[in-house]
Amino acid sequence: MLEVEEARERIFDCLSTLPSEGAPVSDATGRIVAEPVVAPVDLPLFDNSAMDGFAVRATDLAGASREKPVALRIAGEIAAGGSPNVKLKEGRCVRVFTGSILPTGADAVVMQEEVTVDERAANVLCFESIKPWENVRLRGEDVKKGAAVLAKGERIGATAIGLLGALGLKEVSVARRPVVGLLATGNELREPGESLEPGTIYESNRAMLLEPLRAAGALPRSYAIVADSLRDTSKALEEAFAECDAVITSGGVSVGQYDFVKKAFEQIGGELNFWRVAIKPGKPFVFGRCREKLLFGLPGNPVSAFVTFLLLVRPALLRWQGANQVDLPGHPSRLAESLANRGDRRHFMRVHVDSNGEVRSAGTQASHALGSLAAANGLVDVAPNTTLQKGETVRVLRWEWGE
Ligand code: AMP
Ligand code: MG
Repeated sequence: MLEVEEARERIFDCLSTLPSEGAPVSDATGRIVAEPVVAPVDLPLFDNSAMDGFAVRATDLAGASREKPVALRIAGEIAAGGSPNVKLKEGRCVRVFTGSILPTGADAVVMQEEVTVDERAANVLCFESIKPWENVRLRGEDVKKGAAVLAKGERIGATAIGLLGALGLKEVSVARRPVVGLLATGNELREPGESLEPGTIYESNRAMLLEPLRAAGALPRSYAIVADSLRDTSKALEEAFAECDAVITSGGVSVGQYDFVKKAFEQIGGELNFWRVAIKPGKPFVFGRCREKLLFGLPGNPVSAFVTFLLLVRPALLRWQGANQVDLPGHPSRLAESLANRGDRRHFMRVHVDSNGEVRSAGTQASHALGSLAAANGLVDVAPNTTLQKGETVRVLRWEWGE
């Protein structure tokens, strides 16, 4: 049986990077950068005021004090967005606002709160000296024109979108999104809202994986529930592979009499690469290739499906798009209680990390238990036959979609 790392490598070996395309910046969340982005302009674009106040020449205020204030004549005003229509001469100041371009000749801004304004006399009394460039946001001090702002393989988030917008970029080159079909197999499965006969249950895996798929840059496409027969499974796989780059199935990958995914996949010309990974939950995971397309066969149990998605499918989808960072984000945290794995496979135990960073089991660790999965916000990888003690520091793998 493969270790999860070997399984991942086997999947990565089958991937070539998806082609790139232009995406509107405003709609690029979760996309992976295909061509590095270089700043076309400086940020800030021009020297501007960080405060509401008065643009001054710092030399004019040398020696100003409470006892000996310096009076400056108000020579004009520049609103945010207004052009610098005045040149600042000695003994003068210009009223400015946060974001106003600095008038030529000015090299500092005195805060409005620190001066006394005599509107009638058009005078400002300043009680303190000021250092050159105080309260001024200098052109290019944040981002220099020509600087690398987004590297190839970086995932675009809300903050990157803000930066690209400020740079005036409307489009960004990203990897094409893989279209991923979602198939759920099982005679017992019913669509949410349908009536349940005895022995049937609601199907929940497809809906559960939608957002994680989108967050991994994929375009999910849900298909109808598939009955447990070779004919139905082959037909459903054929249809999904015709329309998608990859297909995720759930259920039907164990050794039961009604498990048809592997057989059906081979029947439509797919080639199985591996079956079974040495982890709990999720052992009967299947990976295969059908020409350039991929099959991820998840176990039907919802927790197994979710965990194998996170550990094996998510990294594959990200790598396919050329992402540098494909691992789940994680951080060290302290165990507030012990976690025991009495089995002979690594157990990715579902845990809850509280706001103090303390980690506890999220409840039962059974593979079908969605209640404890929903109560969890992380996973801890516990080695076979190992008990991690209360107080130990462990690494918690987290799932957080979006930002
Ligand atoms: P299987 O992998 O097909 O043997 O299914 C294992 C367990 O997961 C069974 O209890 C199934 O009823 C359940 N199961 C399978 N697929 C789903 C699904 N899509 N949603 C909810 N439960 C499922
Ligand atoms: Mg089944």
